[in-house]
Amino acid sequence: MTQPLAGKVAVVTGGASGIGLASVEMMIAAGAKVVVVDRDENALARLQEKHGAALIPYATDLLDADKCKALVPDILALTGVIDIFHANAGLYVGGDLVDADVDAIDRMLNLNINVVMKNVRSVLPHMIERGTGDIMVTSSLAGHYPTPWEPVYASSKWATHCFVQTTRRQVCKHGIRVGSISPGPVITGLLSDWPEEKLAEAKAKGSLMEASEVAETILFMLTRPRHITIRDVVMIPSQFDL
Ligand code: NAD
Repeated sequence: MTQPLAGKVAVVTGGASGIGLASVEMMIAAGAKVVVVDRDENALARLQEKHGAALIPYATDLLDADKCKALVPDILALTGVIDIFHANAGLYVGGDLVDADVDAIDRMLNLNINVVMKNVRSVLPHMIERGTGDIMVTSSLAGHYPTPWEPVYASSKWATHCFVQTTRRQVCKHGIRVGSISPGPVITGLLSDWPEEKLAEAKAKGSLMEASEVAETILFMLTRPRHITIRDVVMIPSQFDL
């Protein structure tokens, strides 16, 4: 098998499960060394045992401001280089706005957009200095279409989508590519927070995606020749009338 990411160092936040884990395993299979950032220490330990030297576990809570600030400097001290930064960790708050818990809204907005912005801000000087680098952000189908059953979550992903578009335009002159992947519903732990009737509907329609299908798309984006940036891929279940 060819290894298009051989020699690359990648960082994946929220990489211990779901879409992040699929991205980690796809990148390792493609030859990258991957720093997996997650708050789930047990899952990180299991992953390191499975993947050995190809995987560096980094346990942290990104919602802790000091730990978030330390992330990129710490990783650079370990690896010396970051070629790919996949900002993927995210939370979900669904349902009606009036029913949403205010603390949960704060945590979700913090992780889904503030932390993404701070992590990218932190890694950019390194990439600018090297004149190369790839930023990948996990957004969502909800970041492109107003999904009325999840106004809180959708708002965070519209912000993410705007962040990717504006940042790409600012840093493309430095040889840095900024892209996002925006899947519809994917079978991961996050779906357990979905409104039950929406989940039942998606299951009945057969419209749920596999995390590996998302990761394959990410790998495709990351392995285009460097003169091409694929900025936003929106993965829409074929039955959705969007
Ligand atoms: P998931 O819950 O399976 O994975 C999220 C990972 O992030 C977990 O390993 C968790 O431990 C980690 N994490 C959560 N909070 C953290 C924190 N404060 N610090 C460090 N790590 C933390 O969910 P997923 O579905 O794989 O979600 C990944 C991304 O995909 C999110 O940004 C989500 O919004 C997006 N997304 C998910 C779906 C879906 O239907 N599952 C669809 C579109 C987009």
